Amino acid sequence: MSNELRVTVWNEGVHEKTNERVRKVYPKGMGWQIAQYLKKQEGIKSVRIAQLEDPDQGLSDKILNTTDVMTWWGHVAHDRVSDENVERVRRRVVEGGMGLVVLHSGHMSKPFRALMGTTCMLKWREWQGIGEKERLWVVNPAHPIVDGVPERIELERSEMYGEHFDIPQPDEQVFISWFQGGEVFRSGCCWHRGLGKVFYFSPGHETIPIYRNELILKVIANGVRWASPSRVLGGIKRDHFVPPLEPIG
Ligand code: ZN
Repeated sequence: MSNELRVTVWNEGVHEKTNERVRKVYPKGMGWQIAQYLKKQEGIKSVRIAQLEDPDQGLSDKILNTTDVMTWWGHVAHDRVSDENVERVRRRVVEGGMGLVVLHSGHMSKPFRALMGTTCMLKWREWQGIGEKERLWVVNPAHPIVDGVPERIELERSEMYGEHFDIPQPDEQVFISWFQGGEVFRSGCCWHRGLGKVFYFSPGHETIPIYRNELILKVIANGVRWASPSRVLGGIKRDHFVPPLEPIG
């Protein structure tokens, strides 16, 4: 594989500044943790981190137009992302083919909800502040997102995300999670939206060091590669009226 993907890790970047527990787990921020892993992966040419506090919220045309795949982590400040920027991300996916890898609480982010068209609500529980066991089962072992991943990933402590998860039927289901408290959850889901692809992957609560887990990071890197733009030969035609190729009648 050639080293060609330009990745932008979009990180809300609020928890790390306001919550001591999160700072202890991710002293340099969650985005840094993900970015430093992706930088070393095959097929990835460059990785930059963009945050809510950056100019244009890290979502300018200049950034989007030079991004092949964007990862998205947000939680407490979804509403602060401007509608204009949300529309820019949505269009870059649907019309430009940018991949979007949405992580954990990003299920309630505005770009994800805009691309799904549903509420994206789910059940949740951070049991007694420490979480519970999660077992992610691979339900599609031939999928590129689980390349090099065993049949299950076990997390000793995780935040429970449970069904019903109000998403459109995924085009491809990759993981289903079991939780110690009894729930199940569609924890790895793929969709195609126009020219673009969207992968949602649920592990990643901010007070648990899940983004230090090698297998979780491997799935994110595989997700980035899966979501990379397809080559559209000749580009997309904007003129929808076309003369016939052969004489008619
Ligand atoms: Zn969480």
